Amino acid sequence: MYSLFETMALGLAADSTTALLMAASIALHQPAESVALLVAFLKTNLPRPVIARWLLLFSCVGPLGVSVGLLVSQVASPYVSGVIVALTAGTFLYIAATEVGRTNPPLVARSVPIMSSHSLR
Ligand SMILES: [Zn+2]
Repeated sequence: MYSLFETMALGLAADSTTALLMAASIALHQPAESVALLVAFLKTNLPRPVIARWLLLFSCVGPLGVSVGLLVSQVASPYVSGVIVALTAGTFLYIAATEVGRTNPPLVARSVPIMSSHSLR
């Protein structure tokens, strides 16, 4: 779902500079996102052909999102574009807040013992 929103936002980009920056940001994190998705699928013990089909579907989401974004930018009002961009930003913040804390120990938990050991010296 997130991938659909981020590529829709790319399709909604108002100018070529914004589109280039968004395409670069998507291209920079897409390999890591794809590997993370693959690892998550491998942990489910699904048969490999099923995983391959899900990854194929994931690969199709990008072009679909850009197409929908381009269509919306041509047909719908600017308010709809704004709502899609806001949903994209909200989805990005939600994933950053939930996934970063899940894969790594919370920043506070790592920093507190270091700070307390320095303060005791
Ligand atoms: Zn992404």
